Amino acid sequence: MANDHDHEHDHDHEHDHGHDHDHDHDHGHDELDGQHQAEELAEAEAAAIRRHALAQIRQYPDVALKLTANEVTEFDDDLGRLVERMERLMHDAQGVGLAATQLGVLRRLFLFQPDPETTHAVVNPRIVERSNETEVAEEGCLSLQGVRVPVERALTVTVEGKDPAGNDVRFELDGMGARVAQHENDHLDGVLILDRTDDDHRSEALGILRPQPVLR
Ligand SMILES: [Zn+2]
Repeated sequence: MANDHDHEHDHDHEHDHGHDHDHDHDHGHDELDGQHQAEELAEAEAAAIRRHALAQIRQYPDVALKLTANEVTEFDDDLGRLVERMERLMHDAQGVGLAATQLGVLRRLFLFQPDPETTHAVVNPRIVERSNETEVAEEGCLSLQGVRVPVERALTVTVEGKDPAGNDVRFELDGMGARVAQHENDHLDGVLILDRTDDDHRSEALGILRPQPVLR
């Protein structure tokens, strides 16, 4: 699942005086310019890292995104390495959740961030309880770039499964955690937010996702 931040926002160029004639004598202004440039550089670098991560994440309409993932049976080093890779990609892509399916790996495993300081990996997750009370909110997806659609989700869920070492885990989730866990669990069954939203928003999203003509 994609972060709420808008990464395509316009930069503020108020300090960007290309032809500042006083610039040799105005040290205060130079420092401001320097700081601003450093911030822009850091943002540009984060954007480049994000693009690199997104390039490694399967994008709609990749067929893997429609497939049902298989139960994990081996809790081995291979699984540990997959979890580490997913953590790195989710972080670099600035996401708050990632399912193995999104790497084209059809194993029942997802990561989610209920808050910025916490990341959980759940293997063979099952949603064992969900509230009747639901809420509609906009969701994005790292596999559907540029798309945000309203999706109705249960307000609270309980997820059971294993950690990557094979120990039983159980999460009683609400808020962002509940929403992300439902979104990522859907990926393991080949279900996307496009399948969960209303017809109007689906049409609009498909318009955004339609391949653009390549200009040569
Ligand atoms: Zn997603």
